[in-house]
Amino acid sequence: MKLYNTLSRQIDELKPINKPEVSIYTCGPTVYDYPHIGNWFTFIRYDLLVRSLKAHNYKTKWVLNITDVGHLVSDADQGEDKLVKKALKENKDAYAIAKLYTDYFISGLSRLNILKPDFMPKATDHIQEQIDFIKVLEEKGLTYKISDGIYFDVAKFPQYIKLARLNLEDQVDGARVEVNPEKHRQIDFALWKFSPSSGKRDMEWDSPWGKGFPGWHIECSAMALKYLGPTMDIHAGGIDHIPVHHTNEIAQSEAANGQPLANIWFHTSHLSIDGSKISKSLDNGINLEDIESRNISLEAFRLLVIQSNYINQSQFTFELLSGAQSSLKNLIRDFSWIYSGVKTNNENKQLRTNIARTKRSMLDFMADNLNTPRALSALHELASYVSNLNQISDDDILVIEKFNIFVNELFGINIVKKISLTNDQKKLISDRKNYRLDKNWDKADESRKILEEQGIGLRDVGEASLWFPLD
Ligand SMILES: [Zn+2]
Repeated sequence: MKLYNTLSRQIDELKPINKPEVSIYTCGPTVYDYPHIGNWFTFIRYDLLVRSLKAHNYKTKWVLNITDVGHLVSDADQGEDKLVKKALKENKDAYAIAKLYTDYFISGLSRLNILKPDFMPKATDHIQEQIDFIKVLEEKGLTYKISDGIYFDVAKFPQYIKLARLNLEDQVDGARVEVNPEKHRQIDFALWKFSPSSGKRDMEWDSPWGKGFPGWHIECSAMALKYLGPTMDIHAGGIDHIPVHHTNEIAQSEAANGQPLANIWFHTSHLSIDGSKISKSLDNGINLEDIESRNISLEAFRLLVIQSNYINQSQFTFELLSGAQSSLKNLIRDFSWIYSGVKTNNENKQLRTNIARTKRSMLDFMADNLNTPRALSALHELASYVSNLNQISDDDILVIEKFNIFVNELFGINIVKKISLTNDQKKLISDRKNYRLDKNWDKADESRKILEEQGIGLRDVGEASLWFPLD
């Protein structure tokens, strides 16, 4: 399996440290709001990466963290904690906000058929691990204290620039971070922030340096070490994490552990909506409910993610999403007629050959830097072959059902759906067949319409009328 590695700026072969196990850490949500579809694009891409590894017979060990403390509004060290800000706005406790949006996030994973990560650690459950991690950095002389917290001294870690290929001279003008005159360099980042002297925070803990809370980045270093050890195979996140969050994770972890944090750094591109970047201020943060309220399935949304390559910026419009919905319906139409096909006892050898070839191509495209659009086009090719058949043996049905399991495991979508007809529906189909033989097209159309209203589509191949679920 090959993946584009941000660290090397090239496509690298995955060489798992403990083959066949592959360890993966993906940066998870900050649980202060409902994720928008740009966030879900990223989480579905993590899922497709894990599914692809499993399909290539790797055993995955996947950590997805839940950030429930310490992520400040600026993404750097200034401003309020995102959860605290929301809690104040809604007149709730920060823990209540964290629970509400963590529960929502977990239900979103299952609504989108995203595999359950092996570990979903929360930052607030790992305060001691984060304190211990900061102590190691302190003992190595890599930290300093100023009035609002303990900071990582970037000057002590010369490889700091390597992931983002930063030019540090460009970073000191305050463009990236707000200026804090006490910091040695503006690029230095907080490991531990002190609680304000006035008032109590909902989330604060004692530490060797004083009461406060961890900086955002340290949770990932501490939890990655706990669950995956000092070096993991793949670390993933959105590309916006490259210059700050992942750069800081590398600095902390590699300075503390003395070895690389990850062999492959996998970054997913942004999603833009109607041509502009998603942002809360633009109020274009479409969520899952907005999709469902338009009668579009979340499975269609998943297909939209598969249709685009993770490496390029993806576009979202509701027209594109409707297109994905039609494409999904067509796949279901092309495969699900099998339960109504004309029965034969002859096995279709060509079908078996084509399925084997399609599986191989899909796996190869996924192994080639997770090329989901090409893997999907291999599936469409097979669909077009299958849709032109009308005879089917019981064994052919089993072969297609097995192929559906393969597609479901790799892509997380179902292309074969079985429905059972009521007696009335069966009668409508046989009546329509007779109307057609009598060339009574109006009556035949009427029967078709009634069936369509009940979610059953029809396709005529010769004299046979094949039926399939419409969604
Ligand atoms: Zn992280």
